[in-house]
Amino acid sequence: MSEVKDNKVASVHYTGTLPDSGEVFDSSEGRDPLTFLVGHKNMIPGFERELMGAKVGDKVEFTLSAEEAYGEHNPDAIQQVPTDMFGDITPEVGMTLNSDMGPFRVTVVTAESVTVDFNHALAGQALTFNVEVVELRDASEEEISHGHAHGPGGQNH
Ligand code: ZN
Repeated sequence: MSEVKDNKVASVHYTGTLPDSGEVFDSSEGRDPLTFLVGHKNMIPGFERELMGAKVGDKVEFTLSAEEAYGEHNPDAIQQVPTDMFGDITPEVGMTLNSDMGPFRVTVVTAESVTVDFNHALAGQALTFNVEVVELRDASEEEISHGHAHGPGGQNH
């Protein structure tokens, strides 16, 4: 019987909630399952670890500390930049934009400056996941060498 381990391609349905409030921050409900190559750092660290050994049909619930999820909130990742650096874009609070240094969120806008936060939106949060394994297969050699899953739910290239 197949189980979740390194170099398997796993497809899972999941719902992520904030343990304090019960608020759902992400869910695959009503969508295609999430498909990923196990053991290649495609997922946050604690997520794969908790699923190791699970079989198709297994439902697993676990809560990860911030450190095992999107990391602690790093105050150094909050920066003030001049508003004119945004060029044609009018920055608004709540926007997520991309830069050479990765995605960031706009948290404060004044006439002169914009405060941007490079922390993941879920940084500093413990996260609870309910996960159901819906499909498991061996990864191809090509997938293993690329470090990600191909086909439905994976990379198509
Ligand atoms: Zn590839």
